[in-house]
Amino acid sequence: MNGIIHSIQTLGTLDGPGVRFVVFVQGCNLRCGCCHNPDTWEGGGREMSPAEIAEKATRYRTYFGKDGGVTVSGGEPLLQAEFCTELFDACHARGINTCLDTSGSVLGDKVSALLDVTDRVLLDIKYPTDAQYRAFVGCPIDKPLAFLSLLNEKKIPTTLRQVIIPALNDSAESMAFLNTLAGQYPVIDGIELLPFKKICKTKYDQMGLEFPFEKYDTPSADTMEHLQKMLQK
Ligand code: SF4
Repeated sequence: MNGIIHSIQTLGTLDGPGVRFVVFVQGCNLRCGCCHNPDTWEGGGREMSPAEIAEKATRYRTYFGKDGGVTVSGGEPLLQAEFCTELFDACHARGINTCLDTSGSVLGDKVSALLDVTDRVLLDIKYPTDAQYRAFVGCPIDKPLAFLSLLNEKKIPTTLRQVIIPALNDSAESMAFLNTLAGQYPVIDGIELLPFKKICKTKYDQMGLEFPFEKYDTPSADTMEHLQKMLQK
Protein backbone atom coordinates (compact mmCIF):
# COMPACT_ATOMS: atom_id res chain seq x y z
CA MET A 1 0.00 0.00 0.00
CA ASN A 2 1.35 3.43 -0.90
CA GLY A 3 1.84 6.16 1.68
CA ILE A 4 0.91 9.84 1.46
CA ILE A 5 4.15 11.59 2.24
CA HIS A 6 4.65 15.20 3.27
CA SER A 7 8.45 15.25 3.07
CA ILE A 8 11.64 13.34 3.73
CA GLN A 9 14.68 14.42 5.73
CA THR A 10 17.61 12.29 4.65
CA LEU A 11 19.99 12.78 7.59
CA GLY A 12 18.02 13.71 10.71
CA THR A 13 19.47 13.65 14.22
CA LEU A 14 16.42 14.69 16.26
CA ASP A 15 13.95 11.88 15.66
CA GLY A 16 15.33 8.75 17.25
CA PRO A 17 18.74 7.25 17.99
CA GLY A 18 21.71 7.99 15.73
CA VAL A 19 21.44 9.43 12.24
CA ARG A 20 18.05 8.76 10.68
CA PHE A 21 16.21 8.93 7.38
CA VAL A 22 12.99 10.61 8.52
CA VAL A 23 9.74 10.19 6.59
CA PHE A 24 7.05 12.75 7.49
CA VAL A 25 3.62 11.44 6.53
CA GLN A 26 0.72 13.66 5.55
CA GLY A 27 -2.42 13.71 7.68
CA CYS A 28 -3.17 14.01 11.38
CA ASN A 29 -6.26 13.23 13.45
CA LEU A 30 -5.30 15.70 16.20
CA ARG A 31 -4.96 19.48 16.37
CA CYS A 32 -2.35 20.23 19.04
CA GLY A 33 -2.13 23.91 19.91
CA CYS A 34 1.67 23.68 19.88
CA CYS A 35 1.90 21.81 16.54
CA HIS A 36 4.94 22.87 14.53
CA ASN A 37 3.83 20.96 11.42
CA PRO A 38 0.32 22.26 10.60
CA ASP A 39 1.20 21.77 6.94
CA THR A 40 1.03 17.98 7.54
CA TRP A 41 -2.58 18.08 8.81
CA GLU A 42 -4.51 17.60 5.60
CA GLY A 43 -4.49 17.85 1.83
CA GLY A 44 -1.53 17.59 -0.49
CA GLY A 45 1.23 15.11 0.04
CA ARG A 46 2.92 12.84 -2.47
CA GLU A 47 2.09 9.19 -2.97
CA MET A 48 5.10 6.92 -2.57
CA SER A 49 5.49 3.15 -2.28
CA PRO A 50 7.21 1.42 0.66
CA ALA A 51 9.79 -0.10 -1.71
CA GLU A 52 10.60 3.30 -3.24
CA ILE A 53 11.23 4.83 0.19
CA ALA A 54 13.18 1.85 1.51
CA GLU A 55 15.34 1.98 -1.61
CA LYS A 56 16.06 5.69 -1.05
CA ALA A 57 16.86 5.07 2.63
CA THR A 58 19.27 2.30 1.69
CA ARG A 59 21.46 4.89 -0.06
CA TYR A 60 22.11 6.49 3.34
CA ARG A 61 22.76 3.25 5.22
CA THR A 62 26.46 3.96 5.70
CA TYR A 63 25.54 7.04 7.77
CA PHE A 64 23.20 5.13 10.09
CA GLY A 65 25.97 3.39 12.08
CA LYS A 66 24.79 0.91 14.68
CA ASP A 67 22.00 3.09 16.15
CA GLY A 68 20.47 4.96 13.20
CA GLY A 69 17.89 3.95 10.63
CA VAL A 70 14.46 4.99 9.38
CA THR A 71 11.93 6.99 11.43
CA VAL A 72 8.35 7.66 10.37
CA SER A 73 7.00 10.89 11.84
CA GLY A 74 4.25 13.25 10.80
CA GLY A 75 1.48 14.09 10.79
CA GLU A 76 0.38 10.85 12.42
CA PRO A 77 2.02 7.63 11.15
CA LEU A 78 -0.57 5.39 12.86
CA LEU A 79 -3.22 6.67 10.41
CA GLN A 80 -1.17 4.98 7.65
CA ALA A 81 -0.35 1.87 9.66
CA GLU A 82 -0.51 -0.58 6.74
CA PHE A 83 1.87 1.52 4.66
CA CYS A 84 4.25 1.89 7.63
CA THR A 85 4.18 -1.87 8.23
CA GLU A 86 5.17 -2.55 4.64
CA LEU A 87 7.86 0.12 4.80
CA PHE A 88 9.30 -1.27 8.04
CA ASP A 89 9.23 -4.80 6.62
CA ALA A 90 11.17 -3.51 3.61
CA CYS A 91 13.63 -1.75 5.96
CA HIS A 92 14.19 -4.89 8.01
CA ALA A 93 14.79 -6.87 4.81
CA ARG A 94 17.63 -4.41 4.17
CA GLY A 95 18.96 -4.57 7.73
CA ILE A 96 17.68 -1.08 8.62
CA ASN A 97 16.39 -0.21 12.11
CA THR A 98 12.83 1.20 12.36
CA CYS A 99 11.35 3.86 14.63
CA LEU A 100 7.90 5.49 14.94
CA ASP A 101 7.35 9.04 16.21
CA THR A 102 3.70 9.20 17.28
CA SER A 103 1.06 10.72 19.51
CA GLY A 104 -0.25 7.20 20.24
CA SER A 105 -3.85 8.22 19.61
CA VAL A 106 -4.85 5.47 17.17
CA LEU A 107 -5.35 1.81 18.11
CA GLY A 108 -6.53 -1.35 16.38
CA ASP A 109 -5.30 -4.49 14.62
CA LYS A 110 -3.39 -2.60 11.93
CA VAL A 111 -1.52 -0.57 14.54
CA SER A 112 -0.79 -3.73 16.49
CA ALA A 113 0.67 -5.35 13.35
CA LEU A 114 2.81 -2.26 12.75
CA LEU A 115 4.29 -2.47 16.24
CA ASP A 116 5.43 -6.01 15.50
CA VAL A 117 7.94 -4.57 12.98
CA THR A 118 8.86 -1.44 14.98
CA ASP A 119 12.20 -1.38 16.80
CA ARG A 120 11.54 1.78 18.83
CA VAL A 121 8.72 4.20 19.51
CA LEU A 122 9.03 7.88 20.37
CA LEU A 123 5.76 8.54 22.18
CA ASP A 124 4.60 12.08 22.83
CA ILE A 125 2.99 12.42 26.24
CA LYS A 126 1.88 15.98 25.87
CA TYR A 127 0.29 16.86 29.23
CA PRO A 128 -0.31 15.22 32.60
CA THR A 129 -4.12 15.60 32.71
CA ASP A 130 -7.12 14.49 30.72
CA ALA A 131 -8.55 18.02 30.80
CA GLN A 132 -5.41 19.39 29.11
CA TYR A 133 -5.43 16.61 26.53
CA ARG A 134 -9.03 17.36 25.63
CA ALA A 135 -8.47 21.13 25.53
CA PHE A 136 -5.07 21.36 23.81
CA VAL A 137 -4.70 18.11 21.82
CA GLY A 138 -8.19 16.95 20.87
CA CYS A 139 -8.32 13.46 22.38
CA PRO A 140 -8.70 11.92 25.85
CA ILE A 141 -5.49 10.98 27.67
CA ASP A 142 -6.73 7.36 27.76
CA LYS A 143 -5.72 6.96 24.11
CA PRO A 144 -1.93 7.44 24.48
CA LEU A 145 -2.02 5.58 27.79
CA ALA A 146 -3.72 2.57 26.16
CA PHE A 147 -1.12 2.76 23.38
CA LEU A 148 1.66 2.83 25.97
CA SER A 149 0.20 -0.22 27.66
CA LEU A 150 0.27 -2.02 24.28
CA LEU A 151 3.91 -1.02 23.78
CA ASN A 152 4.68 -2.50 27.17
CA GLU A 153 2.86 -5.75 26.33
CA LYS A 154 4.80 -6.02 23.09
CA LYS A 155 8.07 -4.98 24.78
CA ILE A 156 8.86 -2.23 22.26
CA PRO A 157 11.66 0.04 23.57
CA THR A 158 10.04 3.41 24.11
CA THR A 159 11.23 6.97 24.57
CA LEU A 160 8.70 9.37 26.06
CA ARG A 161 8.84 12.91 24.69
CA GLN A 162 7.24 16.07 25.95
CA VAL A 163 7.30 19.55 24.45
CA ILE A 164 7.63 21.92 27.40
CA ILE A 165 5.22 24.86 27.24
CA PRO A 166 5.53 27.41 30.06
CA ALA A 167 2.34 27.72 32.14
CA LEU A 168 0.94 24.48 30.73
CA ASN A 169 3.33 21.64 31.56
CA ASP A 170 6.59 23.13 32.91
CA SER A 171 5.63 21.78 36.30
CA ALA A 172 6.73 19.30 38.95
CA GLU A 173 3.33 17.66 38.42
CA SER A 174 4.07 17.01 34.76
CA MET A 175 7.55 15.61 35.50
CA ALA A 176 6.08 13.42 38.27
CA PHE A 177 3.55 12.05 35.79
CA LEU A 178 6.34 11.14 33.33
CA ASN A 179 8.29 9.50 36.17
CA THR A 180 5.22 7.54 37.23
CA LEU A 181 4.73 6.23 33.68
CA ALA A 182 8.42 5.31 33.45
CA GLY A 183 8.12 3.41 36.73
CA GLN A 184 4.94 1.66 35.65
CA TYR A 185 6.08 0.60 32.16
CA PRO A 186 9.54 -1.05 31.97
CA VAL A 187 9.72 -0.55 28.18
CA ILE A 188 10.32 3.17 28.76
CA ASP A 189 14.08 3.60 28.70
CA GLY A 190 14.32 7.37 28.28
CA ILE A 191 12.41 10.64 28.58
CA GLU A 192 13.21 13.62 26.34
CA LEU A 193 12.03 17.15 27.01
CA LEU A 194 11.89 19.51 24.06
CA PRO A 195 11.47 23.27 24.34
CA PHE A 196 8.33 24.75 22.77
CA LYS A 197 9.36 26.99 19.85
CA LYS A 198 7.46 29.45 17.74
CA ILE A 199 9.39 29.36 14.48
CA CYS A 200 6.42 27.51 12.96
CA LYS A 201 4.32 30.69 13.14
CA THR A 202 5.25 31.53 9.55
CA LYS A 203 3.66 28.24 8.43
CA TYR A 204 0.40 29.20 10.16
CA ASP A 205 0.58 32.67 8.57
CA GLN A 206 1.15 31.19 5.11
CA MET A 207 -1.80 28.84 5.62
CA GLY A 208 -4.02 31.70 6.82
CA LEU A 209 -4.44 30.01 10.21
CA GLU A 210 -4.18 31.45 13.67
CA PHE A 211 -1.28 29.97 15.68
CA PRO A 212 -3.20 29.04 18.84
CA PHE A 213 -0.15 28.98 21.12
CA GLU A 214 1.42 32.23 20.00
CA LYS A 215 0.75 33.67 23.46
CA TYR A 216 2.93 31.10 25.22
CA ASP A 217 6.63 31.69 25.79
CA THR A 218 9.58 29.54 24.84
CA PRO A 219 11.05 28.00 28.02
CA SER A 220 14.48 29.21 29.16
CA ALA A 221 17.52 26.93 29.17
CA ASP A 222 17.43 27.10 32.98
CA THR A 223 13.83 25.87 33.06
CA MET A 224 14.67 22.99 30.74
CA GLU A 225 17.66 22.01 32.87
CA HIS A 226 15.65 22.27 36.06
CA LEU A 227 12.87 20.04 34.69
CA GLN A 228 15.33 17.55 33.22
CA LYS A 229 16.89 17.10 36.68
CA MET A 230 13.50 16.04 38.06
CA LEU A 231 13.36 13.06 35.67
CA GLN A 232 14.45 9.61 36.69
CA LYS A 233 15.15 8.17 33.22
S1 SF4 B 1 -0.08 14.97 16.78
FE1 SF4 B 1 1.77 15.96 15.97
S2 SF4 B 1 1.27 16.52 13.84
FE2 SF4 B 1 -0.67 16.06 14.88
S3 SF4 B 1 -1.41 18.06 15.57
FE3 SF4 B 1 -0.26 17.14 17.27
S4 SF4 B 1 1.84 17.92 17.07
FE4 SF4 B 1 0.77 18.29 15.11
